[in-house]
Amino acid sequence: MKNDQQDTSRHQGLRKRLVESIHRKGITDENVLQAMLKVPRHLFAFDSALIERAYDDTAFPIGEGQTISQPFTVATQSQMLEVKKGEKILEIGTGSGYQAAVLNEMGARVFTIERVKLLFQKTKPLLEKLGYTSIKCFYGDGFDGLPTFAPFDKILVTAAAPFIPEKLLEQLKQSGMLVIPVGEGDLQVMKRFTKISASEIKEEAFDAFRFVPMLPGKKS
Ligand code: SAH
Repeated sequence: MKNDQQDTSRHQGLRKRLVESIHRKGITDENVLQAMLKVPRHLFAFDSALIERAYDDTAFPIGEGQTISQPFTVATQSQMLEVKKGEKILEIGTGSGYQAAVLNEMGARVFTIERVKLLFQKTKPLLEKLGYTSIKCFYGDGFDGLPTFAPFDKILVTAAAPFIPEKLLEQLKQSGMLVIPVGEGDLQVMKRFTKISASEIKEEAFDAFRFVPMLPGKKS
């Protein structure tokens, strides 16, 4: 194994610093902070030239025009989901698999969908190799959700949605939550929808974030 494919004490030290900085930026959910201390983010960088940057609080490219989200963004979305152990969570936009790994470390049962075949083909075996064998990866269009495995306690969208996908709201359990960045401009508003009942949805709006767009259909 090459040195950059291991989790060394240097990586662990960098990770501790990153988590401390995220805590200072306002993330207080211990479950989120502990999970991010555990997940070796540098091993999710497909390009070894980027490994040095893995513990900066920045997004970086993972190929196919996509990015691994900024750690603060991952932390914010994870905190907004109010994850409890054993909950069933659907993630839209697997990308590198990093966010899925964080949710899994938080105790969630994770299902994740990616529309870009090449990313799906790289990330599924990577997650297995890193020991995240219970994360279920799917190649598909997140606008459809995952009806076969619905309902979910929580749904997390990690790409900028042009509108709220109705099917995702339908696939939530009662009192389930959907966390989703909404908007078609440069910046999106982070929103959280809570399903009070089949006919009543509570909507909350949070800060602005920058995501790659949620696109319809699959890319082969
Ligand atoms: N959660 C990822 C972030 C990846 S960026 C991580 O931790 O690395 C967003 C991802 O959403 C990209 O990989 C993009 O291809 C994917 N995506 C965009 N639209 C999608 C859709 N309709 N269904 C599934 N995935 C989608």
